[in-house]
Amino acid sequence: MMKLATFVMLFLSCLAAFAEDSAKQPDVDMQAIKVSDHVWYVEGKAGTATENEGFVSNASFIITGDGVVLYDSLGTPALAELLLKEIRKLTNEPIRKVIVSHYHADHIYGLQVFKDEGAEILAPAGVIDYLNSDSANSRLQERRVSLAPWVNENTRLVAPDRYIKESEKFKLGEIEFTISALGSAHSEGDLTLFVEPDKVLFSGDVIFDGRIPWLGDADTVNWLATLNNIKTAKPVAIVPGHGGLSNDPEALIKLTYNYLKFVREKMKAAVDDWVPFDDAYDEVDWGEYEYLPAFFEANRRNAYQVYLSLEQESLGSK
Ligand SMILES: [Zn+2]
Repeated sequence: MMKLATFVMLFLSCLAAFAEDSAKQPDVDMQAIKVSDHVWYVEGKAGTATENEGFVSNASFIITGDGVVLYDSLGTPALAELLLKEIRKLTNEPIRKVIVSHYHADHIYGLQVFKDEGAEILAPAGVIDYLNSDSANSRLQERRVSLAPWVNENTRLVAPDRYIKESEKFKLGEIEFTISALGSAHSEGDLTLFVEPDKVLFSGDVIFDGRIPWLGDADTVNWLATLNNIKTAKPVAIVPGHGGLSNDPEALIKLTYNYLKFVREKMKAAVDDWVPFDDAYDEVDWGEYEYLPAFFEANRRNAYQVYLSLEQESLGSK
């Protein structure tokens, strides 16, 4: 009898362990894609932040010969573990640095995995404001529900080891990198990373493809200037924050660039003529954009945000 009880207990604990194990491994197709001699990335699927078990954003890594540099960390610790496995298929070099494009949930909840690996975390200066705000914590609470079990009680917000205020260059192995500090473009703070010898740029969410960009609290003047700088740098390839790698940077930038310009132009005309926002919004022919994904969710809010910021700009200039 005792033996049977022991057997049942063992069986149950095996089951529990199995359940826990399968809960730790998201059922997503993640494969490192080679971009250039030293650069690889994994591509999140299209979808909202909580679809595909949170695998909706990209992360990239560079194997330098003297350690691995990562750009972004994915949206859950479990996805970051999968990414680490992909890296380990290619190299045993230590993970030296993670450069975080910006502190939005879909790019940062994997950080703890790489922090535990001993990596130094670098993030834009604006992140201080985010980490001191209520939204950092309330977003984490929200994701513990909306992305359960992948974001859970063990998921923590990892603060950067260093904040980047100004653009800087660094070298690891034989590879030279440029981190560009954009100030506030898509978020409170954004960084892009350029791998010099490979001429590959990681843009984070400064470039949107195949959907209406999310303007959030963006500074659209700064954002447009950034896109102009990218055009001048002429990268061979760009890995965006979401969506596929592009070997045609000009084409990849086009949607974001034209959209920002369009919204600013239309809202500026309204602000200059003292047209109230609702009327101005209804008068615009959004035809070119209204069939793009996320138009319904984002466009009106984007336009309103730009309208308000243009009012501020025009007050400042008077
Ligand atoms: Zn994102």
